[in-house]
Parts: sequence; structure tokens; C-alpha cells
Amino acid sequence: TVPTSPLRARAEIDLGALRGNVRALRARLAPGAGLMAVVKSDAYGHGALPCARAALDAGASWLGTATPHEALALRAAGVSAPVLCWLWTPGDPWREAIEAGLDMSVSAMWALREVTEAAREAGRPARIQLKADTGLGRNGCQPADWPELVAAARAAERDGTVRVTGLWSHFACADEPGHASTAAQLDVFQELLAYAEKAGIEPEVRHIANSPAALTLPESHFDLVRTGIAVYGISPSADLGTSRDFGLRPVMTLSASVALVKRVPEGHGVSYGHTYRTSAETTLGLIPLGYADGIPRHASGRGPVLVGGTVRRVAGRVAMDQFVVDLGADPGDDVGAGTPAVLFGPGDDGEPTAADWAEAADTIAYEIVTRIGPRVPRVYV
Ligand code: PLP
Repeated sequence: TVPTSPLRARAEIDLGALRGNVRALRARLAPGAGLMAVVKSDAYGHGALPCARAALDAGASWLGTATPHEALALRAAGVSAPVLCWLWTPGDPWREAIEAGLDMSVSAMWALREVTEAAREAGRPARIQLKADTGLGRNGCQPADWPELVAAARAAERDGTVRVTGLWSHFACADEPGHASTAAQLDVFQELLAYAEKAGIEPEVRHIANSPAALTLPESHFDLVRTGIAVYGISPSADLGTSRDFGLRPVMTLSASVALVKRVPEGHGVSYGHTYRTSAETTLGLIPLGYADGIPRHASGRGPVLVGGTVRRVAGRVAMDQFVVDLGADPGDDVGAGTPAVLFGPGDDGEPTAADWAEAADTIAYEIVTRIGPRVPRVYV
């Protein structure tokens, strides 16, 4: 909780757009597949609780979080829908998660041991989903270790400490059209599913697809897709298409009020390091957002901002709390302190998009929206 003012800067969150995105995504799903809205990291910076509620309202049947604490916070706020949380570290609150009826991802024997012990203490079985590493090379059980994990999970099912509700995995390169590793991961996933099912596991859900796979690979949809970025209206990658191509609408609009406007002469150095110097007498506008608010310093000199009907670029370095734009010799009489400056939004009115900021900062739009910090109030519209 940080004292904030929407007059300084605000992130408008269009929950109607989010609901429309969930509906657009569901319309693309293979028959029988449901949608998990991924609301980890405060719903990619959009606000976990309002976004979770809006997504469920529009037909999402599951929610997904990284940490158990994110999932427990949803339960504490009264969300009763199925929730899978997948990033566990030793000592995490398994028992609370069991008592809250969460689904817990298990990738390794240490996690199975902790969860069965917690289930014994809680006196009720834990809902676990076994995660396989089919080729991402990150979290998940290696195929070579799958038989041991499956056998141990089956034994725990027989003694009543767990119920294996899901079998799942995650893609590495689904955002690169036609990447060979995607088909290879699907093959491995099918083999690992067949192995677990032959061993007697009867999962409620099998899932591997993220947003890029949900949008472009129906053969990967199985029982559920886990969509994050597309729910927030952002295309996972320009190589696949734009938001508009997929019928998605960006949910977050980030804007600020110009804090100061002033005339400066030719040759004036701007911001730390004087990496920008005015080429003629001009007008500078001060924007009260900085890298502490998630504005990437790497976009210094490049990040686009719509002020007074024209897209300007960040002049010089982004500082911790503020940056400067060059408004030119004649910014217009209506541009002054208090004028709205739009950093990104859906793009309808000439404003840049989060994808434009990602390009300017040499990163992905996921990082742009997720890093918008706690000094920027989320305003729900
Ligand atoms: N599933 C897992 C395990 C994830 O870590 C993520 C996000 O990184 C997602 C699904 C959602 O991915 P996306 O935002 O590309 O839909």
C-alpha cells in the first residue's frame, strides 16, 4: 500500500475488454476444452481479484497462479472457483492450500513428500496435479523421473493422502510459429499422459497450452488452456499476429498528467547524463512516472507517449520517478501542466500500445504491464 493519486498517474483497467477477451478466446477452443485465466503476479499487473472475478464471469472455469500465497489471497477474498498454483518451494503452506481446496502442482518427490505429510495433518486428501517437463527445461518432472513420481503419487492415492486431479506441462516456443520443439513437446506429453493413465491415474484435466498455443494450436488444447497475456488483450508475439488479428483488446491504459512544461534554449542537456540535447529552442514536458513505477530505463530516448495529439519520444534518460518528453517548438496552447500523457492503451486514439513500449525497451509486452508498480493506482472502468 503506497499513497497514490490518480491525478499523477493511473492505469485504467477495462474489465469489459477483459470479459470480451475471455469470450473471444473461448470461441477458439477445441471442443470440450475449458479456459484457465492466469492471474499470477497480480493478474500481470492488472489487479488479481477484479480480473479473476471478471474472467470467471465471462466463462473462465479455472484460475491459475504461480505462488500458493497468490491463490490463498483469492480464496480469502471469497473466490471459490478451481485454482491451480504451480510454483512451490520447500516449506510453503501446503496445509493451508489443502484446507482452501486449491490444486497444487507437484514436479518432484520432495513436493510429494511435503504435500502428503500436510494431507495427513489436515485429515483430508490434497488435490495435486503432476507437472512434466516435456522440453521447456524449467519446472516440471523430467521424463526419466516420471515413472517414480507417478508410482509414488498412485501409492499416495491408494493411502488416501492425495487425489491426482491433473497432468500437465508447459511449452517453450509456442510463440514462434512452426517451431519444431512444440510438436516434439506434444509428442512427449502424449507419451507421459499415456504412461500415467496406464498406471491408474484418472485426471480431471490434462493441459499444456498457454496463450500462443490457445490462439494457434487447437491440437494442444486437451481439457484446458492456461491463458494469461491474451486475457489482458495483448498478443503473445508479433510473429503470431496483433491483438486485433485475434479479436483481443488491450485491457490496461497507462496515463499520467504532465507535471511541468517549460521553454529551453538550443543545446540544453536533458536528464541524467545529458544523453539528449535540444537541437533548437523547444518546449519540454515532465511526465511524473519513472523506473520505480515500471517505466523501463532501457526505453530512454525511445519510449513513445501521446501528448496533445502527437506521439513524442522519451527525451534522455528515464529517472526513478520522472522522465521528459520534447514537445517541440510549438506544442499548442492547450498543452501545459495537467495535460494527459498516454503511454499506452488499446491504440484506438493514436496512443502507443504496450507492444510499442516492449519494442522500445527491447523486451516483451508481458514485462511492460507486469512491472507497473504500486504507486500507480488501478482504476477499474
Ligand atoms: N502456464 C504457466 C505455467 C505459466 O508460467 C504461464 C505464464 O508465464 C502461463 C501458463 C500463461 O502464459 P501466457 O501469458 O503466455 O498465456
